[in-house]
Amino acid sequence: MRSHVPSYELIAPRDLQHALKMLTEGYRPMAGGTDVMVLFEAGKLAHKKWLTIREIPELRYIDVTPEYITLGPLTTYTDIRRSEILAKEFPLLPQAAAQTGGIATQNRGTIGGNIANASPAADTPPALLVYDAEVELTSLTGSRWLPYTQFHKAYKIMDLAPDELLTSIRLPRRFADWKHFYRKVGTRRAQAISKVCFAGIRHEGQIRVALGSVAPVPIFLESADLSSIAPIDDIRSTASYRLQVAKNLMSEFLSRTGPRPVPS
Ligand SMILES: Cc1cc2nc3c(=O)[nH]c(=O)nc-3n(C[C@H](O)[C@H](O)[C@H](O)COP(=O)(O)OP(=O)(O)OC[C@H]3O[C@@H](n4cnc5c(N)ncnc54)[C@H](O)[C@@H]3O)c2cc1C
Repeated sequence: MRSHVPSYELIAPRDLQHALKMLTEGYRPMAGGTDVMVLFEAGKLAHKKWLTIREIPELRYIDVTPEYITLGPLTTYTDIRRSEILAKEFPLLPQAAAQTGGIATQNRGTIGGNIANASPAADTPPALLVYDAEVELTSLTGSRWLPYTQFHKAYKIMDLAPDELLTSIRLPRRFADWKHFYRKVGTRRAQAISKVCFAGIRHEGQIRVALGSVAPVPIFLESADLSSIAPIDDIRSTASYRLQVAKNLMSEFLSRTGPRPVPS
């Protein structure tokens, strides 16, 4: 059943400092709202105090320096799809964005929301993991950078304090020469949550692979060994199907990107 609207508060801070201040007073951030509003509509949004960051312009950008491409957390899937430099140097991100929801979700949903919603089935985290992304977390007391590989701790548990906002995602510009491979396996080709999501890149003897929907958090690997994945049965699929699909995708990735690596 839909939530009772008057029992919720939604404020719109005028700038980042104001938003950070309100986080210390128990408000939680909402960006595009495409995850939050699903819970609201289902009557499952327990937290009542929200602030929208959507109108804070300094959080929506794609910045290019010689070393990094940095995305503001409000970068939408549509922004990602339209970015020529991402298509050239980090093509798995536009591919993930193109397979996320439909056009309406892509126009509204943000990369920051996809990360901070912390669903193990989310589609951009595997791409961010293989590209060695770092995330910037900001509170009133300052900012810190964290390798994205360390951000997801357990199911829906992140290294993100209640008074912190995810303020940047940066990608080191060292993967343009690698071979890139992305596959999302869902019930349909569009508007489907992943049963397995696979991102892989390869260069000479090195591989970097990440999978979604096969463990409580997105999994990152630097070998073809899938023994650390632990898929579960749920309403979308079964553990055994997911395991088999993960193996098949690893095989396809290896055969499409070059000779099979010699086991170490
Ligand atoms: C019809 C539909 C289809 C979808 N299809 C897909 C799909 O194919 N693949 C997929 O991965 N997802 C899908 N989603 C889920 C959703 O669209 C994405 O996860 C999206 O990226 C969420 O972004 P948002 O800005 O809307 O997040 P919001 O709903 O605004 O927020 C989500 C969570 O992140 C937190 N948050 C948001 N921004 C920040 C920030 N900057 N700092 C700290 N915390 C923050 C919020 O507090 C909240 O807990 C779909 C959703 C819908 C409704």
